[in-house]
Amino acid sequence: MSVTGRYAPSPTGAMHLGNARTALLAWLHSRAQGGRHLLRIEDLDTGRVRPGAADLIERDLLWLGLDWDAGYRQSERLDLYASALERLDTYPCTCTRREIQAAMQASASAPHGPEAVYPGTCAAAAPADPNRPAAQRWRVPDATICVEDGWSNETLCQYLPGEVGDFVLRRNDGVYAYHLAVVVDDAEMQVTDVVRGADLLPSTPRQVALQRALGYATPRYFHVPLMTDFRGERLAKRGGAPSLEALRESGASPRRLLAALALSLGWNVPPEVSAHELLPCYRELTMYEKHF
Ligand code: GLU
Ligand code: ZN
Repeated sequence: MSVTGRYAPSPTGAMHLGNARTALLAWLHSRAQGGRHLLRIEDLDTGRVRPGAADLIERDLLWLGLDWDAGYRQSERLDLYASALERLDTYPCTCTRREIQAAMQASASAPHGPEAVYPGTCAAAAPADPNRPAAQRWRVPDATICVEDGWSNETLCQYLPGEVGDFVLRRNDGVYAYHLAVVVDDAEMQVTDVVRGADLLPSTPRQVALQRALGYATPRYFHVPLMTDFRGERLAKRGGAPSLEALRESGASPRRLLAALALSLGWNVPPEVSAHELLPCYRELTMYEKHF
């Protein structure tokens, strides 16, 4: 079966080393299997998108030699999300964050998981004030969904009503939720292999639930552990990690940077490599070594 992978960054700022590592692994995973590789710019959250960031990401990826066969921008695909939303059992919700918090505290059931679960206030009754802008929430099925990570072989199960709750598919400002867009796009683009940051692992069961409700196939999932600094703290721009743009402009060598990224994955590589030169290295890694 032919493989299609993708890298799906949100253009909210400059790429840093952690993003580059995810981008590299996604590219290696597609190309090592002779697969297609897509670039999908996830620019739906207009409040967080930074002008020029998408172009910058493209430039950074090409600088690293991480090419793609087709590029997409989610902001140009709103019709697809609208028609998927119509096929799902949703209801309008006008609750504010504060109201949701109050309802959760009032109900005896404290949240089970790490995440606040919407208590279903608007599930039964229409919103009190029809003039308030409404979000659309998905009535999640009464099911436990399990997903297996293709690298760690770990399985994550979530009971949707108890651990996730009815989640928003379109915000009250009209922005389609990431979970809906990612599921529609991965299906529409026939993505077979999803490589992405480990921060998205807890989002995977609800995305699989959406795939099933929409009649889509479920891709294989591979989650990249987040890059941490020597103190074990998550590497973020705020922590002073240099952006790729800054590295590129200071004349840094992409071959050295790729070698450093490979080294951070525990791979034994020469001090300078190209992305293509890492392909045999990636192919030879056993599943155990892909635990990173
Ligand atoms: N756009 C998401 C992010 O940058 C990734 C989505 C995905 O790979 O599924 O965090
Ligand atoms: Zn509500």
